[in-house]
Parts: sequence; structure tokens; C-alpha cells
Amino acid sequence: MKIKDILKEKTPHISFEVFPPKTDAGFASVLSATDQIGALKPSYMSVTYGAGGGTSKNTVNIASHIKDDLGLTSLAHLTCVSSTKEHVARVIDELKKNNIENVLALRGDIPKESEFPLPNHYRYAYELVEEIKSKGDFCIGAACYPEGHMEAEHKKDDIYNLKKKVDCGVDFLTTQMFFDNTIFYNFLYRIREIGITVPVVPGIMPVTKGNQMKRISEMSGTVLPQRFRDVLDRFGEDPKAMQQAGIAYATDQIIDLFANGINHVHVYSMNNPAVATAIMHNLSDIVKNG
Ligand code: FAD
Repeated sequence: MKIKDILKEKTPHISFEVFPPKTDAGFASVLSATDQIGALKPSYMSVTYGAGGGTSKNTVNIASHIKDDLGLTSLAHLTCVSSTKEHVARVIDELKKNNIENVLALRGDIPKESEFPLPNHYRYAYELVEEIKSKGDFCIGAACYPEGHMEAEHKKDDIYNLKKKVDCGVDFLTTQMFFDNTIFYNFLYRIREIGITVPVVPGIMPVTKGNQMKRISEMSGTVLPQRFRDVLDRFGEDPKAMQQAGIAYATDQIIDLFANGINHVHVYSMNNPAVATAIMHNLSDIVKNG
């Protein structure tokens, strides 16, 4: 099923994300986590994409498994900045061959110590959107950043670039994680104001380990509200307490989003079935998946 059709549902829905193993050795354990998360019947499951190595193959394999063996809608991420245009074209062909109809078109992070853009590589995600669109009847998602993308000097430019990307054929957007919902509501207002009308799925990350946060902040530049810092300060050193508090914080954010009229939330479940299960348990009378 195309995700743009799932997003027409007017009741609360949850989707989850998994990431493929870096090497084939980790494949079985990722598959097992995928199956356990899939058993929760999310409205779809996304599979991230890492540049190079065997990861691109594993993204397609896991997305096919979700669709064919678990009977769920899958969303395959695809990045373009570290691969040649020919390689990207081959992956799109693979997706098509496997009947994976939903693709999240991403630029990817610029590889360190490389000139940008590399010859014969795409420079921005909008170019990948155009390429996927030209290759078939895909439902195309893209990323957006309520706090602005790390490289963008001004939020205004980032939103302008986002509009350009969406106009190339994006069907829906998924946000970078955020820990303060008011940032998301403000962002939504600003993008609607400049004419971006596609559905926007907020991405929520349950932070269950104190030491996760430093990396997350460096990667995404996200603002940590005081309420969230207090949770980290109090429970960050106690793994069980942090897991419970992180799940509660994420649940609270999700309920607030639903209460404010959002119908679909994507949870960055990070191959962790226990976290995904706890979130679904907390929302069991709210979420209407399936
Ligand atoms: P773009 O949309 O190309 O934007 C990148 C930067 O370029 C922004 O600052 C933007 O303002 C600017 N820009 C865009 N278009 C133009 C233009 N026409 N002119 C000038 N400037 C422009 N990474 C992975 O490696 N694998 C994944 O699976 C993955 N999944 C993700 C899922 C989500 C929901 C999100 C939010 C991010 C994900 N990422 C993933 C990270 C992502 O690849 C990085 O954040 C990357 O730095 C930007 O990707 P993008 O697709 O948003 O790029």
C-alpha cells in the first residue's frame, strides 16, 4: 500500500523504524527485531539506508521481508550523496523489481574529507526525488527539520529549499526527531504558510540511554528542553529507570501530538522491540493501527 494513502486515515496511527546491519553477520538479529516490531502491527515500517558496503542490499532485503513475509507496508530509505548516479539507479531498479513502492529520498550526510559534490553524484535530495519519480509509480517521502537542517544558516532558507524539494514530487515528509512539540507546531505553521501541503509525519525518538543523547545532539543539533534535561540528569545513570522515563517522555509527546490533531507518528524504535512494545502498550486504547 502507498503511504500517502495510509496517511489519509483520520485516526491515530504509529509506524516504526529499523536499521539494517552493517555486515551480513548481523542480519539474523535485525530480522528477529524486525519481526517482533512487525508483530505490533504498525501502519508501516521504515528501513534506513547506510552509505556503501552491503547495507544497500540489506535495506532492500529487509523492506521486502516486511512487505512479503510480514504482510506490512514497508518504506525503504535511499541516500544519494555517497554513491554514483549509476549505483543509485541500480538500487531504484532493485526496489522496483521487489515491488517496494514507498521510498524515502534522502541526500545523506556528506562524507568527511571528500569534496562536495563529487563528480557524477547527486548534490541534493531534490535531484534524487526527480530521479525516483522518473523511474516509476513510487510513493516518495523526504526528510524535514523542524529546528532547521544543521548546514542551513537560516531556517527560512531551509524551508525554501524544502518547498523546492516537495515541488519535485514528494508525497509526504517525515521530521527529524525533536523533544519539544511546540517546535514542531511552529514549523508546521511556517511550512503551510509558504504552501507546502503534503502530510508531515513527526518522528519521535524514545531516548532510553543517557549516553545516547550526546551523539543525537551532535548529529541533529536538536534542542533539549529543560524538562528533558531533568529526566536525563535524574535517571541517565540508571539504565532501567532511564528506559522507563524515556519511554514515558516519548509517549507523552505522542499523546500531545494526537491531542493536537496529528494522526500519524513515526517512532524511531532503533531495532529495539522492548521499546516499541512498551510504546504501543501505553497507547493501546488510542492507536487504531491495522
Ligand atoms: P536535502 O534535502 O538535500 O538538504 C540538505 C541541505 O541542503 C539542507 O541544509 C538544505 O537546506 C540544503 N539544500 C537543499 N536543497 C538545496 C538547494 N536546491 N540549494 C541550496 N541548498 C539546498 N541518513 C542516512 O544516511 N540514512 C538514512 O536512512 C537516513 N534517514 C533519515 C530519515 C529522516 C526522517 C531524517 C530527518 C534524516 C535521515 N537521514 C538519513 C539523515 C539525512 O541524510 C541528513 O540529515 C542529510 O544531511 C540531509 O538529507 P536531506 O535528504 O534532508 O537533504
